[in-house]
Amino acid sequence: MGKFEYAPAPESRDIVSLRESYGLFIGGEFTPGVDGRAFKTISPATEEVLAEVTEAGPADVDRAVSAARQAYEHTWSRLPGAERAKYLFRIARIVQERARELAVLESLDNGKPIRESRDVDIPLVAAHFFYHAGWADKLEYAGYGPVPRPLGVAGQVIPWNFPLLMLAWKIAPALACGNTVVLKPAETTPLTALAFAEICQQADLPPGVVNIVTGAGETGRALVTHPGIDKVAFTGSTEVGKEIARACAPSRKKLTLELGGKAANIVFEDAPVDQAVEGIVNGIFFNQGHVCCAGSRLLVQESVYAEVLAALRRRLETLRLGDPLDKNTDVGAINSAAQLAKIRELSDVGEAEGAQRWSPPCELPVKGFWFPPTVFTGVSQAHRIAREEIFGPVLSVLTFRTPAEAVEKANNTPYGLSAGVWTEKGSLILWMASRLRAGVVWANTFNKFDPASPFGGYKESGYGREGGRHGLEAYLDV
Ligand code: NAD
Repeated sequence: MGKFEYAPAPESRDIVSLRESYGLFIGGEFTPGVDGRAFKTISPATEEVLAEVTEAGPADVDRAVSAARQAYEHTWSRLPGAERAKYLFRIARIVQERARELAVLESLDNGKPIRESRDVDIPLVAAHFFYHAGWADKLEYAGYGPVPRPLGVAGQVIPWNFPLLMLAWKIAPALACGNTVVLKPAETTPLTALAFAEICQQADLPPGVVNIVTGAGETGRALVTHPGIDKVAFTGSTEVGKEIARACAPSRKKLTLELGGKAANIVFEDAPVDQAVEGIVNGIFFNQGHVCCAGSRLLVQESVYAEVLAALRRRLETLRLGDPLDKNTDVGAINSAAQLAKIRELSDVGEAEGAQRWSPPCELPVKGFWFPPTVFTGVSQAHRIAREEIFGPVLSVLTFRTPAEAVEKANNTPYGLSAGVWTEKGSLILWMASRLRAGVVWANTFNKFDPASPFGGYKESGYGREGGRHGLEAYLDV
């Protein structure tokens, strides 16, 4: 069965009013950079320039860290938890009020479908602020001692795949625990972080509690190596994570790293096939596969391999790829030309190494960065597409016969962020979950997030947890 024809249903972008250029958000004000450097942020779906953004140099990072230190010493760390909570509640409510605008802005700058930014990213952003507002005056009950103390100034660096959501994961717990922050968004997706700066103004957050410095890797390096930072929180690639770990090692900075993944999504023969197929699609094609915990390795029990693959192919033929602002779109644009080149390269390697490549018939727009949903079969554990993170809409399919073999193959990776198990047997779910070396194991679902649930990795997927009671530890002096 093919696709139903739907009339286009584009979300209007009128709700977003973009400025031509943005300064840095330091000490509660937007300010120009010291050396006047700037870069452009574009829509990956059309390559249209959206705005010019300031590139923060070391002197700007220094100003931001000083502003955060001032705010920490004189205001934020002195406020009672209940007062900090009020600000976090206020921010959460403003995010809800401006949800449609933020969703459109996120889809414009990132390329993700509006359906996802509207229904997943932005509601979770609000949920993270609500959840942590609840903790701000109850920290003494979190299990970290009777008077848990904040760390000071946090330097936070985030990636482009969930721009505003990663910001919320970083800023909400930091502020709830009494820290102030300097955050650097990714260079390809700075706009929602700058909108968040406006929200901080709207919420009357004391100046300097949140500072946003835009820029690329050099700006990130200046931030994490700044001697005035007490805590570094990084989400991004394992390669950069290792560099940051080395840079922080000789210092007293507390460090948490949320890095890459190569998760196994494991389908047993007794799993309900249609439900599992939805989970496979959600696991790897949600957000174009730009998901650190994506189910990028499908492990299917041999006895149901043909059935699952046939159902998966049928389902993929119904996915709609195109305009991220169209409410019917399932698969949006790849975030950048560089990421597209990486996905193409690894997919070509997959073919060259002998795996079979398949994509549903799908017309790609001429402008912008696009890659069709792709499935590789005949993949062996030695293939690069089974070992390396592709961070795109590319699924590698492997098979197994026994639960023990599934565990062995799932754990055969340097990463350990997440895994999925599909079976009707509760005992098998528990047996698998206790053996899988992954921070999150989803059972009969995938990519489910909740601010109350800790998230983080094993092995080269990083250390520390974000979310839940466990996530508070990263921002407390314990
Ligand atoms: P990246 O590491 O290249 O960049 C991440 C951020 O770090 C960006 O803001 C970038 O400007 C900055 N940066 C780059 N070099 C730096 C340096 N030397 N010092 C300090 N900062 C530096 O990664 P990316 O391509 O933006 O993101 C994709 C990666 O992020 C994937 O590997 C993915 O798995 C990972 N990721 C992990 C999680 C998680 O929670 N574990 C979540 C999302 C993404």
